Amino acid sequence: MEIEPLFDDEFAGAPAKRILAKLLKHKEEGRSIVGTYCGYAPLEIFRSLGLVPAVLCAFSNGTVAAGEAVLPSNLCPLIKSSLGFIETDTCPFFSISQVVIGETTCDGKKKMFELIADRRPLYVMDLPQLPDREGALQHWIGVVKEMTVFLEKTFDRSSSADAFEAAIRDANERNEMVMKIFSYAALNPPVLHWSEMLDLVFLATPLSGKELKEILTEKISVLDERVKAGVYFGGADAPRVLITGSPLAGDSAKVYRCISEEGGVIVGIDSCTGFKPFNSRIAEDTGDPLTAIAARYLNIPCSCMTPNTRRLEEISRLIEITKPDVVVDVVLHACHSYNIESSKVERHVREKHGIAFLKVVTDYAAEDVGQIRTRIGAVLEIAKGKR
Ligand code: SF4
Ligand code: SF4
Repeated sequence: MEIEPLFDDEFAGAPAKRILAKLLKHKEEGRSIVGTYCGYAPLEIFRSLGLVPAVLCAFSNGTVAAGEAVLPSNLCPLIKSSLGFIETDTCPFFSISQVVIGETTCDGKKKMFELIADRRPLYVMDLPQLPDREGALQHWIGVVKEMTVFLEKTFDRSSSADAFEAAIRDANERNEMVMKIFSYAALNPPVLHWSEMLDLVFLATPLSGKELKEILTEKISVLDERVKAGVYFGGADAPRVLITGSPLAGDSAKVYRCISEEGGVIVGIDSCTGFKPFNSRIAEDTGDPLTAIAARYLNIPCSCMTPNTRRLEEISRLIEITKPDVVVDVVLHACHSYNIESSKVERHVREKHGIAFLKVVTDYAAEDVGQIRTRIGAVLEIAKGKR
């Protein structure tokens, strides 16, 4: 039976255009836009100041060449694409952003921010990378406070503890609803498609409040209807794949496509274009909301952290929930931290969980699609044989 797309009404096919339309409407109503690239940008602070976050363009092979005109070619495609969008003035989200919030995650991104510092007012958050060391949280709280002051001064407005608390409550409700929607991908068989997961991530990042909740409530009822109707994605015995690693979207979503074409189903995405922005709660009513927000973000298990034990814990948790046959770790070319960490992830997945594992190193170009398909096809066969 044909399955009606989840985002057909508002977002299907061109979510970026629809989200841009929503952001432009917010801008017309007098709200200011803050551009971000990373999961460590504390969105609740923006919202407490009445600012709207925009995820800046970073996922197209089409702008990599323009990025390479300035950057070394042996750099991660996400960074080259990001700068290429700015150099070619083709990212509409950057065009409407009044400021950019960056962060010191990996060296490439950190240095890229220096190259765009003359294009927009920019605040680079100094992220501690040993999150469990004494003083790391205190340092990060100071950074989050300083960023708040930067935004308050830039936009001539001020926040309050009540506004922070309201933004925290809103984020917790949003996260619960988004994770509920993701849970339909973990059903056996899944009733949520990987492309719908991506649409959901890009929709739920800039939007908030009543506007977002109404959309999410409606999507949950559509998914319930799918369950009742007995429709699902993939074959009834399709091998289940949990994705982990670098953020993927746009041209790098080719990996997801290869998995579907080889007969697999994606049951979870452990990355910043998947669960990571939504899978935890911020402590409410602590009396110190800014610290609560800072603590939640410092817990994000990005490979820029060392040791990044939280990532392995999170993968174990997700294996319990999504029950995959295979874990696919996707590493973008020249992303050294995810690449190096991959051997630990492989050992963890194979030895602790006894699950098949595949590492895919790729960029945004289409040349390696055939090879990726062959390798995915082989690991899915192995996984089926292990059942
Ligand atoms: S993977 Fe790390 S650096 Fe990349 S967006 Fe996520 S948190 Fe930021
Ligand atoms: S994928 Fe890796 S190298 Fe690329 S921006 Fe993210 S952390 Fe940096």
